[in-house]
Amino acid sequence: MANSTTQNLLIIKVAIAIPIDKLFDYLAPQNINHIAIGTRVIVPFGKSKKVGFVVDKSKNSDIKIDRLKQVIEVLDDAPLINKKDFQLLQWASRYYHYPLGEVFSAAFPVSLRKGKKAILPQQTVYRLSAKGECLNAEQLKRTPKQQQIFQLIQSAKYLSSSILSQTETNWRPAIKTLLAKDLILAELQAKVPGNPVADTEKPLQANDQQSHAINQLIEKLGQFSVSLLEGITGSGKTEVYMQVIQKVLDLGQQVIVLLPEITLTPQLENRFKQRFSVVISISHSKLTETQRHCAWLEMQQGQSAILLGTRSALFTPLKNPGLIILDEEHDSSFKQQEGFRFSARDVAIVRGKLLNIPVILGTATPSLESLHNAEKKRYQLLHLSERAGSATKPEFLLFDIRNKKLQDGLSEPLINHIKKTLAKKQQVLLFLNRRGFAPVQICHNCAWVARCHRCDTSLVIHANDGVLRCHHCGYQQHLSTHCPACKTGELRPIGLGTERVERRLIELFPQHSVARLDRDSTQGKGSLENHLDRITQGKIDIILGTQMLAKGHHFPNVTLVAILDVDSGLFSIDFHAIEKLAQLIIQVAGRAGRAEKPGKVILQTRQPEHPLLTILLKQGYNSFAKKALIERQQADLPPFSSQALLRSYAKNPSDPLIFLQKVSQLIQQYNHLNTQVLGPVSAPMAKRVGNFHFQLLLQNSQRKNLQSLLDQIIPLLYSLKESKKVRWSVDVDPVDLY
Ligand code: ADP
Ligand code: ZN
Ligand code: ZN
Repeated sequence: MANSTTQNLLIIKVAIAIPIDKLFDYLAPQNINHIAIGTRVIVPFGKSKKVGFVVDKSKNSDIKIDRLKQVIEVLDDAPLINKKDFQLLQWASRYYHYPLGEVFSAAFPVSLRKGKKAILPQQTVYRLSAKGECLNAEQLKRTPKQQQIFQLIQSAKYLSSSILSQTETNWRPAIKTLLAKDLILAELQAKVPGNPVADTEKPLQANDQQSHAINQLIEKLGQFSVSLLEGITGSGKTEVYMQVIQKVLDLGQQVIVLLPEITLTPQLENRFKQRFSVVISISHSKLTETQRHCAWLEMQQGQSAILLGTRSALFTPLKNPGLIILDEEHDSSFKQQEGFRFSARDVAIVRGKLLNIPVILGTATPSLESLHNAEKKRYQLLHLSERAGSATKPEFLLFDIRNKKLQDGLSEPLINHIKKTLAKKQQVLLFLNRRGFAPVQICHNCAWVARCHRCDTSLVIHANDGVLRCHHCGYQQHLSTHCPACKTGELRPIGLGTERVERRLIELFPQHSVARLDRDSTQGKGSLENHLDRITQGKIDIILGTQMLAKGHHFPNVTLVAILDVDSGLFSIDFHAIEKLAQLIIQVAGRAGRAEKPGKVILQTRQPEHPLLTILLKQGYNSFAKKALIERQQADLPPFSSQALLRSYAKNPSDPLIFLQKVSQLIQQYNHLNTQVLGPVSAPMAKRVGNFHFQLLLQNSQRKNLQSLLDQIIPLLYSLKESKKVRWSVDVDPVDLY
């Protein structure tokens, strides 16, 4: 290939968000002699135009100069991210073996990816006029809406249209009249007005353990370190975060706080707003494109001091970086499961190192990786082992349900405990991680089972909707009562889902209210919030729900928690399952017995002697984790080794298998550092949405050996002819072997 060198022309190497791991060369526009690395450009690409990111400048290209096209437009005067974050994205692209253009794209909000200008839209901000300053709000009492809005502006000093829209309905007519009466002024501003809560709360008096943690964390400000704050639910981790954040804010620096779940953001946002008078930005996938655009630029320009968000918010640029906090660090939602499969926890630590700022990982149930790092003294470990205030720890009870008569999953002793709790006017929380009525419908005569024709799974009965539904691809069909195979048999449900337990609870406790919280019952906008409000107000006696109950929400009047079926987590082929189950048990248990009421946690199981389960309940999460880590070490599993999972799928079952066999052969040629190759095998659920899935697991006791193998083979896969017929991906540090 001709390698061309130019004397005067500048060649720009551009990363573009397409699934090819290479940079594209363009000529710089003639009238611009200075294009900084990191800026966005619009370039011609095939028949279309694309937004790309300038990664390098050069005088050389592998392509002949006369075949190079020119950059159409330079979008930014200066790069929007700093050098360190630029390095971070390059590192992430290398480490996760994902194209740089796609990684860059993931770090920017959709608006900027599409080429929108990096400016904040102007907002109208209202403040009192000189006339308004002299007015007593009492004089507006005959027009209550005007009076209310006037008082809001009076106490907040200024209010923006966006804040009014968030907090008030139908405020525009009142504003219009107040403006007409000359009582208020409107100004257009590009600067974000601060948090309108005028009187912020004082910090709580920290207890000894909290003080110790706060002091240790404050001491670490100003340079890189990782601290693992292990605090049981209700021990006041949030209070610790807030006192440390206050110090960071006093230094004029910014903070990113990441949460695993969108639904947890409003709760924390409210607590922060009551504590801090700074601007707080929010970023998660349920917000509009403009909202995310603003949050990103507010942090980038230093207008906002705190960013609260989920996984992808991690990449938001900071003008004055100070601190990164990951709450519930053990949660697997921090690992992206498709596309750019990064771990927000691991990338946060690399970012902390590059920016030279501390990272705090907080949780009641640390991941085994983090505990291992703490044991190795890579992380500072801080403990909060007591509940803050005067709340007590819950008591655990194991109910052996072998050979016991169950009423839709509820054992007799559990029903008695529910009765007793309800009699004391306290709330009950039941956990079952399966929605729908029952996971299987079977013919009582010929044993025919309703299965999805696109996936390797049975269809789940959704009795309330009168359908059978596939939980993997969403396929559904009407629920029938007679067997399509033998035409005579009666169809019956097998197994438990939340709908089924809900029906039984309503039958057993007709005087009490039951709320079911799962993905089906909380679909509408605001519907989950509505349920949560009714629970907090005491309008619900029995709460029944899935996974979504385990995360963060506080139910102070719940004193009995029961996990109806812990066994499903004990049988999984994925070695992560037992860790996830233990975390789930402790997290669900954490919902009980806050405030002054002691709580009980009941686990129904057919394996009451399971060693890890017994240790967890008798000796607590830490002893469990120690034991589980020893088992991992003996089996040479992460964190004592490193893994990467190559996945492949296609409509034709032989294509992905042939592709992965080819990959496996290729690996044999390059594998000089003892990487174990397991497979290819079909995925635990082989057929999904009409595609056949296969996988190849790579493992090495040394992370760098595995990485060096991946460095060599992944670039080759793009051009393998066997890769043309399949979709494939590589998942570094997979948390799910599915
Ligand atoms: P966590 O985040 O560890 O679950 P929180 O920070 O939410 O715990 O604290 C649990 C409850 O205890 C909250 O209501 C909080 O206001 C209260 N709390 C925290 N620290 C203290 C303290 N030092 N004194 C009194 N109450 C506290
Ligand atoms: Zn039948
Ligand atoms: Zn399906």
